[in-house]
Amino acid sequence: MNLVVISNRVARGKANEPMTGGLAAALLPVVEHSGAIWVGSSGRVRDGHQKEPFAEIEALGTGALATLDLPAAHYGGYYEGFANSALWPALHSRSDLIRVSQGDYLSYREVNAFMARALLRFRKERTAFWVQDYHFLALGAELRDLNVEDPIGFFLHTPWPVPAVIQGVPHHRELIEAMLGYDLIGFQTEEDCRNFLSYVGQELGLTIVDGIVISKHGRTRCQVFPIGIDAEKFAQYAAKSVSHPDVSRLRRSLNGEKLAIGVDRLDYSKGLVNRISAFDRLWTEQPQFLRSISLLQIANPSRGGIEAYGNLQNEVARLVTDVNGRHGEVDWTPIRYLNKGFSQAVLAGLYRTAQVGVVTPLHDGMNLVAKEYVAAQNPADPGVLVLSKFAGAANELDTALLVNPHDVDGMARAISIAASMPLTERKMRWEAMMKKLRGHTIQQWSADFVAELEKSRIEKPAVV
Ligand code: UDP
Repeated sequence: MNLVVISNRVARGKANEPMTGGLAAALLPVVEHSGAIWVGSSGRVRDGHQKEPFAEIEALGTGALATLDLPAAHYGGYYEGFANSALWPALHSRSDLIRVSQGDYLSYREVNAFMARALLRFRKERTAFWVQDYHFLALGAELRDLNVEDPIGFFLHTPWPVPAVIQGVPHHRELIEAMLGYDLIGFQTEEDCRNFLSYVGQELGLTIVDGIVISKHGRTRCQVFPIGIDAEKFAQYAAKSVSHPDVSRLRRSLNGEKLAIGVDRLDYSKGLVNRISAFDRLWTEQPQFLRSISLLQIANPSRGGIEAYGNLQNEVARLVTDVNGRHGEVDWTPIRYLNKGFSQAVLAGLYRTAQVGVVTPLHDGMNLVAKEYVAAQNPADPGVLVLSKFAGAANELDTALLVNPHDVDGMARAISIAASMPLTERKMRWEAMMKKLRGHTIQQWSADFVAELEKSRIEKPAVV
């Protein structure tokens, strides 16, 4: 089968470079080992109307990468506009941050249509298209308009909110009707899938039978496929990385003190302000933790051109300065705050060095960092994961210390419990989580999705 995977950006698979996010991290091993072709933006734009989109193709493991220059006139409206200033906040239940114009929506639709035209050249016998994430909600319908009848699936890496929130997105009806051009729509959690189906039932008034929506496009199966990681790879990286200069310097600098680690894109969905406030609360109310645990917070800047992200960067920087100013000593810095990314090989060593992993998003589709932190631990002396109950990962990693990221006192308590947890309990919790990670790998995730997508080739829909 000729599998064509589509996402906004692709990853080149350089072991010494940071990943741009969970989607790239997840798809890279899938494409490297499945022989698929992965199509996405080159990160460059081109002027003029491109009737014949140009793609640069290079090998990636047994698969290939094809990158396209997107249309210059529409890129801003599509990417920073509709995708990241309307859809992203809505999907993370932040209607208050939606900022969008009619022009942004039109650009989003133009780029979806452009991508559909570009994909035609990758069709061969027995092709299946697998579209990734909220940048391309309408791509399935655009392909159908070009008479593509191959199976087309879509996987959403983010959460899907309750109907009232998605109704805050201009043109929501048109967009979600377009999503029904897909044969299969995959979600991270049962809740996301339920929310989507509630919208389709209530707002579009369509019939739903056993998770299958019947529309003018035919049938769309909605199903849950929680995304996994390559846990063995992280364990190997972690074991090897102790000799990496960044990791050994960090270890030397700790002088027996405990370390908590947070690794996030600088995004308002990640709950950074509440997390730092929880450490502030811990050091204020339980001063025995001063000089006994510090926080390493990696906050890799993203989407810097969008106002909400600039504001967040300023707010977090001010808060870190304030907390360090109040609790720091001449020879002790409570929070090491780094606005840069690390390769996954180095991250694994940093995760393993930390006795506490803090992953406290306000909302997150899955959160791969939570899974990676667990996979990177030393089996003989594992650290403790403090995890938001609003991350998709909490469904599987239910022996982490689950917290409400809006409850700063509760998070401070959980961090103190994590930092003092006896070895037997740490091992018990960690082993239960590892069992789940090993039982559901990233390769399994993609194989499950593609197998389900292939079924739609056989059960071609009866159009109503
Ligand atoms: N990541 C990385 N270097 C960094 C920070 C993060 O390679 O400095 C990777 C990390 O290993 C993970 C991904 O980026 O695989 C982040 O995925 P997650 O699901 O946690 O969040 P997202 O950024 O997709 O919202």
